Amino acid sequence: MKPLHDEQASSARAGAPLRFDAATMPKAIGSQARGQQFDHSEPVCQATMEPADCVLCGSTQASHFIDAEDDLTGKPGRFRFVQCDRCALVYQSPRIPAADIAAWYDDEYIAHRKKTDFGPFTGLYHWAMDRHDRRKLALARRYVDLHPESRVLDLGCGAGTFLAKVAQETGASATGVDFKDLSHLPWMREIEFRCGRPQDQAFPAGGFDLITLWHFLEHDYEPQRTLAQAREWLAPQGRMVIEVPRLDSVSFKLFGDRWPGLQAPQHTAVYSRETLCALVSRAGLRIVEWLPWGAFPAYFYLFAGTAFKLLRGRGLNLSRAVYPYFIGELLLSPLLVFEKRLNLAMQTVVVERVEQS
Ligand SMILES: [Zn+2]
Repeated sequence: MKPLHDEQASSARAGAPLRFDAATMPKAIGSQARGQQFDHSEPVCQATMEPADCVLCGSTQASHFIDAEDDLTGKPGRFRFVQCDRCALVYQSPRIPAADIAAWYDDEYIAHRKKTDFGPFTGLYHWAMDRHDRRKLALARRYVDLHPESRVLDLGCGAGTFLAKVAQETGASATGVDFKDLSHLPWMREIEFRCGRPQDQAFPAGGFDLITLWHFLEHDYEPQRTLAQAREWLAPQGRMVIEVPRLDSVSFKLFGDRWPGLQAPQHTAVYSRETLCALVSRAGLRIVEWLPWGAFPAYFYLFAGTAFKLLRGRGLNLSRAVYPYFIGELLLSPLLVFEKRLNLAMQTVVVERVEQS
């Protein structure tokens, strides 16, 4: 396969010394509010990084692709993405070991919905979040008829609002898995929550009619294992809906190393259409449909990418960003009407089991 960025495929082969200069973590991650600048002169403890093999094909041969920062929070450190010489997957290497990555999902992490007060924009914020869950449900319902006997599993369920909506709107039984335990949130009473990684769970084979992975796979240290496991849990006529950022998209071309889809260091891999489809096929899944869009608003990437370019690693203050966010969305609404045709930022692949004959 042709490398996505020939000009960036430098000589930094795996095994050769990588110019990884600032893989550092602050002493107390999460103690500083979003938008505050970190004092880069303060001594920081060196995080132990581990070299990674390609999470798609297992090859150790890779070329430098791009370096990125944690632009969302502004925490210090630059992280390297390489491109597999064999299958063209772009993945992070070296990376923070899985056992240490939890510190990077602090209380401000957006999917965990800790922040709920945005002043006069609070109502609009909640409407936008609910709209995101409605879009997920509508997308899933294109492929699976959901009713009170249906069983739905969401891997990486975060704050669980999607599953709560599934339970409310369809009566289906809803199960969620996430390494972060947010089961104290009131709406989580409507779902069965399992804390941990997918591979730690013991669900019955064929136990789910719908399995969803909304922006989970790009965080996964073992995506092949997760998909193989999820395949076993999928009912014979069931469907799996997988949404991830799309590397070969307009927004990556626009923002490069400030592309929100890189989200270093949390994203272990970033998928093009080709590598996402290769990943699911290797896991014994058949592609029902691939879409150049998802439930997650592409506009978020256009907004955040622009902000990251302007802020240059200083971190995005969500409270202050909420005003320009909604104003920008209004201004761009004539363009966003065509979101599903413009390949702006997202992709979704819907898959089913390949029955062994
Ligand atoms: Zn590979």
